Amino acid sequence: MTIQTFTTPATPPIEFGTDASAVRAHMPAVAAVAEEHIAALARICPTDSSHADRAEHGRDWWPLAMRWALAGETPQMPGAVCRPRATAEVSAVLAYCNDNRISVTASGGRSGVCGAAIPVNGGIALDMTSMQGIDSIDTVSGIVCALAGTFGPDLEDAARSHGLTIGHYPQSVAISTVGGWVACRGAGQYSTRYGKIEDMVHALEVVMADGTVVRTGGAPAGAVGPDLTQLILGSEGTLGVVTRVWLRAHPLPEVERRAAYSFAGLSDGFEACRRAIRNGASPAVLRLYDGAESKRSHGGDGTEAVLLVLDEGTETVVDAAMSVTHDACMSMGARVLDTDLVEKWVHHRNDTSALQALTRKGYVVDTMEVAANWALLDDIVEQVETAMLAVPHARAATCHLSHSYIEGACVYFTFAANPPEDEFEETYRALWSAGQTAAIAAGANLSHHHGVGHSRASFMRQALGNGLDVLAAVKKALDPNGILNPGKLGL
Ligand SMILES: Cc1cc2nc3c(=O)[nH]c(=O)nc-3n(C[C@H](O)[C@H](O)[C@H](O)COP(=O)(O)OP(=O)(O)OC[C@H]3O[C@@H](n4cnc5c(N)ncnc54)[C@H](O)[C@@H]3O)c2cc1C
Repeated sequence: MTIQTFTTPATPPIEFGTDASAVRAHMPAVAAVAEEHIAALARICPTDSSHADRAEHGRDWWPLAMRWALAGETPQMPGAVCRPRATAEVSAVLAYCNDNRISVTASGGRSGVCGAAIPVNGGIALDMTSMQGIDSIDTVSGIVCALAGTFGPDLEDAARSHGLTIGHYPQSVAISTVGGWVACRGAGQYSTRYGKIEDMVHALEVVMADGTVVRTGGAPAGAVGPDLTQLILGSEGTLGVVTRVWLRAHPLPEVERRAAYSFAGLSDGFEACRRAIRNGASPAVLRLYDGAESKRSHGGDGTEAVLLVLDEGTETVVDAAMSVTHDACMSMGARVLDTDLVEKWVHHRNDTSALQALTRKGYVVDTMEVAANWALLDDIVEQVETAMLAVPHARAATCHLSHSYIEGACVYFTFAANPPEDEFEETYRALWSAGQTAAIAAGANLSHHHGVGHSRASFMRQALGNGLDVLAAVKKALDPNGILNPGKLGL
């Protein structure tokens, strides 16, 4: 049935500071998975219990996990790594684990930055990257069906070979999978035109905790009770394991247009973006950087905010979007900049080597993305940056707008600190607590696209209030034995 298969390997986040076979778990020890269970799972699908493989599957790109890796530690060791090759194998693994109360933590590229793929309770890591491929492409309706472990470039190349694009380009596109995008409700850099992943999913195949295989969606829209596809989106492997994803695809763009502007400050730039969006423009890329980030990446005096605009699609539509955006910018006193800035961004947008270099040098460095209504953005930026900079050893807290919607936007903070060695973790956690608490208090949500995982779980009550009890009830109903990715999403 699969029309194209791939074997892209997952890329480790950072080298361990020691041989992977000597790596220790950082979190408190958990019960081992009994040999008889590992043997039974190995009869279902390839299963590896080597120390090095388990150590790799104990971590993702969460900055504290990267820090611990440099010291020869992984957050937690799963008892074994299972690599199912088909939905039937996923189903059999889950049924077995459910019957035997073994925790199952699904993983894709392990590019998550909140520790969502860390098997905090041990159990098994369910590595989905042996399920890579394209099942079908419907060029009339524009629907691509991919196996969950398919990596971003393979998916997009396959779509393009049929004159289509998915248009989902997270910065981690090369190291993340379709299943991981769905599980974390991710967003790509061209989201203002193509939407977030939840806008792109047409249907899902999901394996529930007891091994039952369910299909959701399958029509362009519906009124068939609550949308089960949306229930699974963002569930971070806690409600089911995604095995197949049907994605909406668009015709390849006819044209691309670019523009760049600068504003007296971030607030004027926010207002220009708001006016553009509310007047009906949805350019694929609308990225506005505060003074510090503009100076660092695009030049400027440290106060001016730079806006990069890029759109693609049908010529008439794109020209209209660029024109509406231009008018909105000029109405806020913008200065037109050279489009070379957009060219530079296009080429460097996925390069995170500078952040990894800072991690190696012992800096605390991380990002926090939240979404909020337009009316609240100025205040949120001020509250979050003030709170973060008040944390001892904080060095920087900067912001850019990365995704826009009719009623608001995602604001993305980058923060850094330079604490003494023995205060690293305390400083890291204090920065998160200060920033996240200030953001929620000022009206933002908890996360726009990185998800919750392990690192943000403690903020879920603050973020959802008694909505968290509703989520917990759903979890209890769908996974009564609590085997699926325990300890995540604040559940
Ligand atoms: C440098 C960098 C840049 C990034 N940029 C972006 C960005 O622009 N936009 C964005 O949205 N994110 C971004 N991220 C975060 C990350 O790439 C996304 O969260 C991505 O969706 C994770 O996919 P993954 O395959 O790596 O999933 P993993 O990290 O392996 O897993 C993440 C979560 O999904 C669950 N999961 C994985 N596969 C399945 C499955 N098949 N079924 C059920 N649950 C599953 C896991 O259990 C875990 O809870 C970035 C990360 C890095 C390191």
